Amino acid sequence: LERTFIAIKPDGVQRGLISEIVGRFERKGYKLVAIKLIVPTKEFAAQHYDDLSSRPFFDGLCDFLSSGPVVAMVWEGQGVIKYGRKLIGATSPQASEPGTIRGDLCVQVSRNIIHGSDGPETAVNEIGLWFKPEELV
Ligand code: ATP
Ligand code: MG
Repeated sequence: LERTFIAIKPDGVQRGLISEIVGRFERKGYKLVAIKLIVPTKEFAAQHYDDLSSRPFFDGLCDFLSSGPVVAMVWEGQGVIKYGRKLIGATSPQASEPGTIRGDLCVQVSRNIIHGSDGPETAVNEIGLWFKPEELV
C-alpha cells in the first residue's frame, strides 16, 4: 500500500495544531504507520530539503525546520501521496483553498505548518531519511 512522509513543522507544533492536523488525516481514513517528535539538526534539515539548496530562502528554511520539535509521520493508504498534498493545500497559504490545512490554518509561505512528500520517489527517500525500517508498524 502507498505511503507518504508528512511532518508538522515547528510552527504547527508551537501553535498547538498537532491534533487538528493528525485528525484530518485520520478522519479521511488514512492509517498512521509511524510517528515521532524530533528536533532536527540544521544539517538534517538541509538533507531533507536538498532539492531546494539553490533557492534564496534555503538557509532560512533550514534554520526554521531545525528551530524546534517537528512531528514526523508516515501515513498509509490508497492515493495518500497525491491526496495528502490535496489535504495540505498549495505551497503558499495565500493560494491554498479554504478547507485545506494551509488554507484554514496559516498565512505565510515560510510558516506553512506542514510538509508532505511531493511524489512516490520523494516519499520513499523521505521515509528512509526520517525513519528506520523497524519504526514503521
Ligand atoms: P513542503 O516541501 O514543505 O511540503 P511544498 O512542497 O509545498 O512544501 P516546496 O517548493 O517543496 O513546497 O518548498 C518547501 C518549503 O520551502 C515550503 O513549504 C515553504 O515553507 C518554503 N518556501 C517555498 N517557497 C518559499 C518562498 N518563496 N519563500 C520562503 N519560503 C518558501
Ligand atoms: Mg516540497
